[in-house]
Amino acid sequence: MRSVVPDYLTEVLGDVEPDTSGEPADYIPELAAADPDRLGAVFATVDGMVYGAGDIDTEFTIQSISKPFTYALALADHGFDPVLAKVGVEPSGEAFNQISLESDTGRPYNPMINAGAITAHSLAGSAELTPAERVQRVVDGLSAFAGRPLTMDETVCASEMEHAHRNLAIAHMLRSHDILTEDPRAVVDGYIRQCSVLVTTRDLAVMAATLANRGINPLSEERVIPEPVVRQVLSVMSTCGMYDAAGDWATQVGIPAKSGVAGGLIGALPGQIGIATFSPRLDRHGNSVRGVSLFERFSADMGLHVMEVPATGRAVVRSNEVVGRGPDALRVLRLQGGIGFAAAERVVREVVDTAPAEYAVALDLTMVYSIDDVGRRMLLEVVRRLTLDGHEVYLVDPEEIIPEPDPGDGGRVTVVGHIDRAIHSRT
Ligand code: GLN
Repeated sequence: MRSVVPDYLTEVLGDVEPDTSGEPADYIPELAAADPDRLGAVFATVDGMVYGAGDIDTEFTIQSISKPFTYALALADHGFDPVLAKVGVEPSGEAFNQISLESDTGRPYNPMINAGAITAHSLAGSAELTPAERVQRVVDGLSAFAGRPLTMDETVCASEMEHAHRNLAIAHMLRSHDILTEDPRAVVDGYIRQCSVLVTTRDLAVMAATLANRGINPLSEERVIPEPVVRQVLSVMSTCGMYDAAGDWATQVGIPAKSGVAGGLIGALPGQIGIATFSPRLDRHGNSVRGVSLFERFSADMGLHVMEVPATGRAVVRSNEVVGRGPDALRVLRLQGGIGFAAAERVVREVVDTAPAEYAVALDLTMVYSIDDVGRRMLLEVVRRLTLDGHEVYLVDPEEIIPEPDPGDGGRVTVVGHIDRAIHSRT
């Protein structure tokens, strides 16, 4: 059987292909020379499966899609406080190259607009690095996200450098507020080199999947950045990644995203997939026209909006029944699915509402595939309170989804691999 996913991607590409509206970026002359008809889309799952259709191995410059990744490197290299002191996290609602800074502090509003991204570039790697070493740190970091060594397009880089008056103006303003402490020209040079790194649509999807996969590249299995940094970066992408179109994007697509003026667009859906598209014609915000259409389709067709309410909590208690009779009776709650706060609360409520009359109670976790820290603590507290109420409690946990369960003060639990073990130990 052929996989349905690439066929789906091909079909959606066909649907958006006729739309030739928008223009490739021309303020960087070399970008205007790009073939505007290129079109590609890739899905990379968090377990390393990559599906693509169209132009997925054509290289183009990463441009602003480098921003969330360089911000991540700055946070990983310096910790949160020094970075937050210099770059805010507020959506500016302005164009990506707006010359504006917070009036009181001189801080750029966020790391997705150029002012914030230029500052984030200056914070990648340790403070002692030379400008060239800093560029190397950034290229190495972007390569780790992509899972292969990336190179730079010197022609696009030189072309942008020649027309960098706006970014230079921004950098000089940042220098005058001491947000930048180095030579502004050198920082802009480094930032433009960062933007000139060559990627394919496939690379971008893997980079996005690394964010979706808690910072671990799903292909190389390298941990590129720590989890708290991932959360910070995805949050900023979701509020600021699409510049002055961020609100439309958040409501209509609802996937943390970042666009670049060469026509790339990425989205990272936590725990599920990284998505990337490529189509060089841009709308007035500087976002790829057909890229935006593709993401609208993906989100609607497959329910990928992050605010889509998950079905988790409700079905967590698969059954609640009594096995055996009289003094041997055992109350068995079979749980299923993934257990976080909402699901654990359903279990708590089930136990409270049914107030088991039986002496022995078993929580059967055989069909639970994941449990987070909150879920684990709440279930163990249920165990503890049942013990204190005079019950004997069993956890049926064949896969040790709760390793070494400790119900705490006064709690007691017997772990068994199969519900029969709990039944037989009682008869
Ligand atoms: N290098 C470009 C710039 O700084 C990146 C802009 C973008 O992709 N939105 O203007």
